[in-house]
Amino acid sequence: MRVLVTGGAGYIGSVVVEELLAAGHLVTVLDNMSKGHADAVPPGVDLVRADLHEQELVEQLLRAAQIEAVVHMAADSQVGESVTAPGKYYRNNLVGGLRLLDAMLVTGVERLVFSSTAAVYGEPAQQPIDETAATCPTNPYGETKLAFEHALAWYERAHGLRYASLRYFNAAGASRRSGEDHHPETHLIPLVLQVAAGRVPHVTIFGDDYPTSDGTCVRDYIHVVDLARAHVLALSALADGSRIYNLGCGGVGYSVRQVVDAAREVTGAPIPVQFGPRRAGDPAILVASSERIRRELGWRPLQGELGTIVESAWTWLRAHPHGYAH
Ligand code: UDP
Repeated sequence: MRVLVTGGAGYIGSVVVEELLAAGHLVTVLDNMSKGHADAVPPGVDLVRADLHEQELVEQLLRAAQIEAVVHMAADSQVGESVTAPGKYYRNNLVGGLRLLDAMLVTGVERLVFSSTAAVYGEPAQQPIDETAATCPTNPYGETKLAFEHALAWYERAHGLRYASLRYFNAAGASRRSGEDHHPETHLIPLVLQVAAGRVPHVTIFGDDYPTSDGTCVRDYIHVVDLARAHVLALSALADGSRIYNLGCGGVGYSVRQVVDAAREVTGAPIPVQFGPRRAGDPAILVASSERIRRELGWRPLQGELGTIVESAWTWLRAHPHGYAH
């Protein structure tokens, strides 16, 4: 299939592009380069620098590249920022997304895979979380992703759009050529590895008084390549109708302390920690049930061990000590 990947120059987007190419798809990337890296896009893939708000340009691109399906990953994705700058999230994640849907409508493109998030659930009462859990976001990031999911359902009903919404838990790790290079970095695993590399003196653990086994937050880390493979499967499954899937490794998840210990083991570095207050909006535990995608699409994580995930991120960091800058 000829596939447009919006946000394909970003951390997860670039790995999705790799997996689509490996599965034999033809890929074009659309990215406004606000966070993306041109070097993250595999050689030979067209990178179009444009914004979703430029609807006519998007329409032209869909026509010119004869796009048959879209993987929509372009979005702002920082929970904290979304609380202080909600307008940016509504504009880019919701309004920008609607412009994309309208461009698809005008040009007759009817298939879409969407990057959604566990943040649509807010602070669920039950773990692991399955797709039938109540959606009750606690921040504009989750709220705008959920609003777009709702729009997808109505576009399906009115216009026959077929979509798959993939609700990511904690994506981490790296492929051989693509890894995490955010400025500033806020995610736990890359931060811990920056400490291991001697670039940052210590990692601050946000809260050690949560109702978990060791007092620190528990998350469901999923290897970015496993996550990307799910997009390829979801794209193929669109022929049979729309769907929503959680994507995590499930099980019991890993605490922040366990992540630090895994990174100590992988790197051999001491990784000093300090304890700070809880981060606003952090639920104690977020663990997915991914039974639905396992059952319906036969997806399963191939690199679900925390050590394997951390190891891949460490390998990428050592190969790219300055990220994509050099
Ligand atoms: N975390 C932490 N210190 C940091 C960054 C993150 O203790 O410097 C914790 C955070 O509170 C959460 C977990 O690590 O419980 C994962 O955070 P991350 O930002 O990587 O992903 P999130 O779960 O927020 O999507």
